[in-house]
Amino acid sequence: MFAQHVPTVDFVFSGPALNTFGEFVRCVLDGEPERADTVPGILYERNCRDPCFRKAVGAERDIDDFFLPDYDSFFEALQVHPEPRRTGTSKPMLFFETSRGCWWGQRSHCTFCRLNGESMAFRSMAPDLAVRQFEWLFGFALAYTSFFCTDNVMPRNYARGVFPWLDPPPGAEIFYEVKLPLSRQDLRAMTDAGVTVVQPGTDALSSSTLKLMGKGTTAFQNLQFLKNCEEFGIKPESNLLIGFPGEGPEVYRKYAEELRDFVHLVPPHGVYTVRFDRFSPYFKRSDEYGLVLKPVDYYSLTYPFDESAPADLAYFFADQNLAPYTARSP
Ligand code: SF4
Repeated sequence: MFAQHVPTVDFVFSGPALNTFGEFVRCVLDGEPERADTVPGILYERNCRDPCFRKAVGAERDIDDFFLPDYDSFFEALQVHPEPRRTGTSKPMLFFETSRGCWWGQRSHCTFCRLNGESMAFRSMAPDLAVRQFEWLFGFALAYTSFFCTDNVMPRNYARGVFPWLDPPPGAEIFYEVKLPLSRQDLRAMTDAGVTVVQPGTDALSSSTLKLMGKGTTAFQNLQFLKNCEEFGIKPESNLLIGFPGEGPEVYRKYAEELRDFVHLVPPHGVYTVRFDRFSPYFKRSDEYGLVLKPVDYYSLTYPFDESAPADLAYFFADQNLAPYTARSP
């Protein structure tokens, strides 16, 4: 869509681009940019109408094809704009990756989860490579102590196979998204390795809603995890999601009665209505869930394409059948 209709966009790299971008640069350096016409995952005006290329995504680079990311331009930019650091308004983080996909999602895709597009299969970095990457990251600790993992979900074997081998520098703060349940032993290993902030995907404190989501957890496990986080000094970052198809008013009555009892636990960031995003089971099997999905209206207001275009390019969709409690809200 963009390659075809937006003249200011020269090339679109669809899907993973660690391989395709390198191939593209090679074609340009060789003075033969048109050679990129035949590389799946690279789209532009010339090849974007060909169905073979229109839907293609770039080939993935193996997660164990290990290389050290080059952060130099990021460091240089921080030197030029030191104000946020000096004033404490932001803390620079170094991003890293240890896995792709989701080990839970590959066997039971959470109904609202839109992550990973077409490649939910879990691929995690071999433990010895992960240890090597952490050691390298910790080498920046004189200047940078915050490390942000981009994984959808922490590899399950790292609590025993990676974290015990790490010697984090003082003040190290590692962020990971995690999937519950996690044992106290897991949490101990994570804390000792410098994992201080997690996104646990607790998402609800009602077992019936967690079942609707296909999360594979219960409200009790979520509460137990939040309690354990207090004990181990790990900060959980979570949201309370509402509005799941099939969720009844009794869930909200339960929240109204019970949530006030949890003042000793870290509260969710906020309460958000569930979204229906492309690639999620709610999107792919909308009929099954009684959803009538249409792209949210800002797509047609933003892109000057024809009427049918938003359905192809949109990522965010809204249900035209409002749930009863949504319809009743002021
Ligand atoms: S919501 Fe989290 S646990 Fe569920 S499939 Fe997506 S990444 Fe995996």
